[in-house]
Amino acid sequence: MESWTGHEVPRLPGTAQPLALYDSARRTVLPTAPDGPATMYVCGITPYDATHLGHAATMITFDLVQRMWRDAGRPVSYVQNVTDIDDPLLERAERDGEDWVVLGMRETALFREDMEALRIIPPEHYVGAVESIPDIAARVVELLDDGAAYRLDDGTGDVYFDIAAAPRFGYESNLSREEMRELFAERGGDPDRAGKRDPLDPLLWRGSREGEPAWNGGPLGPGRPGWHIECAAIALKLLGARLDVQGGGNDLLFPHHECSAAHAERLTGEEPFARHYVHAGMIGLDGSKMSKSKGNLVFVSRLRADRVDPMAIRLALLAGHYRADRQWTEELLKLATQRLGRWREAVRAAAGPSGAELLAGVRERLADDLDTPAVLALVDAWAEAALAGTGTDPEAPALVARTVDALLGVRL
Ligand code: ZN
Repeated sequence: MESWTGHEVPRLPGTAQPLALYDSARRTVLPTAPDGPATMYVCGITPYDATHLGHAATMITFDLVQRMWRDAGRPVSYVQNVTDIDDPLLERAERDGEDWVVLGMRETALFREDMEALRIIPPEHYVGAVESIPDIAARVVELLDDGAAYRLDDGTGDVYFDIAAAPRFGYESNLSREEMRELFAERGGDPDRAGKRDPLDPLLWRGSREGEPAWNGGPLGPGRPGWHIECAAIALKLLGARLDVQGGGNDLLFPHHECSAAHAERLTGEEPFARHYVHAGMIGLDGSKMSKSKGNLVFVSRLRADRVDPMAIRLALLAGHYRADRQWTEELLKLATQRLGRWREAVRAAAGPSGAELLAGVRERLADDLDTPAVLALVDAWAEAALAGTGTDPEAPALVARTVDALLGVRL
């Protein structure tokens, strides 16, 4: 699938910092691998609706990860998927009397536009579930042959993963069995499905149903893939058995990332699937969680149509720490717009306080689990001094503009 268009990222002088990130599995901030190529897989959208601010916050988080690695001179292999066939897409198409393919293509195109406007560095591979079906089906067959999966005997052709084949199941999310069961039911799982060996066993292959699209699954029969095996199969094909970072919103902690890891580890015999499982917080609106069921989503495309500067959206989302669930408010956007204006004015000043010092401070704070609130405070202080005419470094305004562009992705 076509990715979106990237942009030039300025190179920065001085010494880069190795990035440390919070790993949900080990529940602490740990360094990411310091050298060599870095690999990252981020779970992308299911294109039944436009990009909302929660998606934007997640994509910006992993964009900063990529920027820090690149700053340190590491080549980055980054893969993102598009779940362009799954229940939510079919349900929305049915509700709106629309063709699911047309819906998926339209929303994916809009997502690409939003990512470009937000200056997200594109992934090396942007991969759809539909184009990956032969690979995914082959992985399901492997799991069946290996005794780690089973077919339900109710004539549906549905295939499930046996979580008993993953002795470490639960290590990624650190949840109790009760919590897992609750989240499994809430997030698309089917704990009460008759015939399953364990209520938490996830679907690998859904046999074809009347009125639903289906693909040739070879020995599996016609059907379509489950979501967790989709990501495991795509990541294994393009990035190999071990990832540096598996990323997504914190609503993917369980069951999605737990199950993807269990599938991949069983398939390769290597563990952990990802050295870091990294999760971005959810964005709420005026005190309640943004969700499609509440109908209170704020779309990036809507803000863009209202002439909001995408750089202000970026700054507004960077004002909170990426791991925190946080709120989107009119006030937050207003403050970000003012901040953007101040920064733009400051980098046009004739001089400012040391640019090299600012760059070192930004690198240091970002390297510590992407501490963007601290970074914004540093740049604020620099801008204030530059505007007050207290700095004497004539190179500083240009270097600060490049720093903010390269590391925060904000063009001034
Ligand atoms: Zn995924």
